[in-house]
Amino acid sequence: MTDRLAELYRQLLIEIGEDPDREGLAKTPERAARALRDFTRGYQQDVPTVLNQAIFSEQFEDMVVVRNIELYSLCEHHLVPFFGSAHVGYLPNGRIVGLSKIARLVEMFSRRLQVQERLTHEIAHALQGAIEPRGVAVVIEAKHLCMMSRGVEKQHSSMITSCVLGEFRENRATREEFFNLVRR
Ligand code: ZN
Repeated sequence: MTDRLAELYRQLLIEIGEDPDREGLAKTPERAARALRDFTRGYQQDVPTVLNQAIFSEQFEDMVVVRNIELYSLCEHHLVPFFGSAHVGYLPNGRIVGLSKIARLVEMFSRRLQVQERLTHEIAHALQGAIEPRGVAVVIEAKHLCMMSRGVEKQHSSMITSCVLGEFRENRATREEFFNLVRR
């Protein structure tokens, strides 16, 4: 069976003036197709599946923070990568979620075509919906290849986005506690 995505990559190589039959490119369409499927595998997942069986009842009230979750995503405007890290915090309300699941949630939304602003919101609202905590905070710091390597060529700039919900939004001290924890 021919892989339609691989065939499209082959056409793309021709379109940019390459010879898809030269040795170095012979397997590139298949490899590129696999890579793109990997970069977009988040479309095959949803929140309930990712968080499956990992929500626990627990009377723990203090802030939970997971820092430096690596993320790799694709900018939906240029189809080139943006990458960086996410920091996620929440205030439990009788339920907690396995820490690795928070990383998997970041992963799932990252592996789709994204803009950083929406990615930040989607992670926050997914966690809010799943365990209904007293609040959620998400910060993402990322570098965008579309910005670094073309156009304005600001190679060292990164973009920071945040989404704060519930007590993180209402309570300044809570919000500052979170930002202090993730900044160090
Ligand atoms: Zn872009």
